[in-house]
Amino acid sequence: MAVKEFQAEAKRLLDLMINSIYTHKEIFLRELISNASDAIDKIYYKALTDDSVTFNKDDYYIKVAVDKDNRLLKVSDTGIGMTKEEFEENLGVIAKSGSLSFKKENEIKDGYDIIGQFGVGFYSAFMVSDVVTVISKAFGSHEAYKWESKGAEGYTIEPYVREVTGTEVILKIKENTEDENFERFLDEYELKSIIKKYSDFIRYPIKMDITRKRPKENNKEEFEEYTEEQIVNSMVPIWKKNKNELSKEDYESFYFEKRYGFDKPVKHIHISAEGTISYKAVLFIPEKIPFDYYTKEYEKGLELYSNGVLIMNRCADLLPDYFSFVKGMVDSEDLSLNISREMLQHDRQLKLIAKNIKAKIKSELENLLKNEREKYEEFYKSFGRQLKYGIYSDFGMNKDVLQDLLMFYSSKEKKLVTLDEYVSRMPEEQKYIYYASGESIEKIEKMPQTELVADKGYEILYFTDDIDEFAVRILINYKDKEFKSVSSGDLGIETDETKDASDTDNNKKEMFEQMKSILSDKVKDVRASKRLKTHPVCLANEGEVTIEMEKILKSIPNNPEIKADKILEININHDVFKALQGTYETDKDKFKLYTNVLYNQALLIEGLPIEDPIEFTNNICKIMQE
Ligand code: ADP
Ligand code: MG
Repeated sequence: MAVKEFQAEAKRLLDLMINSIYTHKEIFLRELISNASDAIDKIYYKALTDDSVTFNKDDYYIKVAVDKDNRLLKVSDTGIGMTKEEFEENLGVIAKSGSLSFKKENEIKDGYDIIGQFGVGFYSAFMVSDVVTVISKAFGSHEAYKWESKGAEGYTIEPYVREVTGTEVILKIKENTEDENFERFLDEYELKSIIKKYSDFIRYPIKMDITRKRPKENNKEEFEEYTEEQIVNSMVPIWKKNKNELSKEDYESFYFEKRYGFDKPVKHIHISAEGTISYKAVLFIPEKIPFDYYTKEYEKGLELYSNGVLIMNRCADLLPDYFSFVKGMVDSEDLSLNISREMLQHDRQLKLIAKNIKAKIKSELENLLKNEREKYEEFYKSFGRQLKYGIYSDFGMNKDVLQDLLMFYSSKEKKLVTLDEYVSRMPEEQKYIYYASGESIEKIEKMPQTELVADKGYEILYFTDDIDEFAVRILINYKDKEFKSVSSGDLGIETDETKDASDTDNNKKEMFEQMKSILSDKVKDVRASKRLKTHPVCLANEGEVTIEMEKILKSIPNNPEIKADKILEININHDVFKALQGTYETDKDKFKLYTNVLYNQALLIEGLPIEDPIEFTNNICKIMQE
């Protein structure tokens, strides 16, 4: 019998499959089942459009069967079948299925990467088998044919005897190799779990003969094996069900089955969109941070289905980075099974879906915040940082999406509050949204810089995440109220004492000048403080880089030294100031000593390292010995 050659492109794909080192070889079964399902779809369509054809639901199914002794795996369907011509057209060339036609020669080498992500079709059977046989009888035809191929050499077609319409694909499963277990594709339970994993929601029944054991009739001590035909797929996916039919538990068990996470999600979102774009999605907002979430290893993305068939495990394009914690799946009838990663990236439908999903997640998070505050806070403790990164990245493009989802600890409420809550209770004369940065709530609580603002009765937001100040740098303001660090030069607060302080006499001015020159380039200025009440000194800062930023930047390896412009502020109403003044007039050495000690104290309060701890402690000792 004449062996026909594959069309050049088909041969290339075939080579790729035969030599595939791709680890998820099991996806071949998904491909064969999806072809079978397509074939049944076609006959179903005929029945819908042609009165002479009746579609009896029970007659249409897919069957997966194993013949272990002969190493055969069969996937059969009662679908539309193929004529001799269709065999040639469909299995000898790469027809419309497109994963390769647009790929250039050099890109093919990394093709195995694509295999797991997209439908690659019928040829994937060659990843696991030496010989592939397809027997088919087309709908309305009187003849059946057998197509067979051992791979690269080509294929044969010959007449065959088959009574019923439909197709049977028979794979001669490869022998095990050193690093590949092919025999598992002959194991009922393995096959069942592969079907569950990839094809659970195919809408026709997938039947399998499952071997089971039962006690023998006449001797209950002994067991006998028997086979039972089971439908192994659930057929109606949760996302195609009506929301009203589903309970919270249904969603939770789906979340768990899918291994989206091991926690209980704080929220599920079930979308059923119709109109210009139609798709269904079930999304989850997890409660707990996955262990690798804030690492490079974490990959965002949603599962992507094309009409019930899984085409991609993690479609990253469906989620913006700032919502990368969202888990779930999207099913759209408008997407082709055989779509490559780069085609997907430019797919208009997919972009629209992504946009839609983004808006939906945002509004659901807002609802959660409004209606289930505690749950939102749980969520926020896990993923709030990601939202703040979202504000910071992309040049602040996502400000509007995210700013109302932010929360910060409030000095007044002693809990997390939103920016809207903060602004709405600001007294009329309060100009700024005040914040204080530090390592922890406890530390910020003791910061001298907060004294004046707190004394005024103004609320202060505590920034304890390293990203906070950077995010606010991008936000700049919220509802026209500018953010202001309590450590910044001008706090916009006038008090009687601050007036006093600004009226410092010449004598003080000179003294501060002296202090500045003693501290040389360590501080930009020395001033009488407007913000201190009970503390003797603190550091304030001017300019772009804040002290908190300096600390963060310091902790990043290989970062060039970036320093905040620091101002040493002295509380002129404090007894320490009087002591300092005394030394200024009588003892220049002591004055120098006091200045250095005060500066180092201010550094310590800020959590900044002091340059020479030994000198500092020696200085303290000197003072104690007086
Ligand atoms: P695709 O499914 O994307 O078209 P495949 O490589 O999976 O690409 O299949 C190629 C073609 O072979 C199908 O389009 C279909 O026409 C035909 N085919 C494959 N399997 C079957 C089947 N079980 N019944 C009928 N036709 C089939
Ligand atoms: Mg296919």
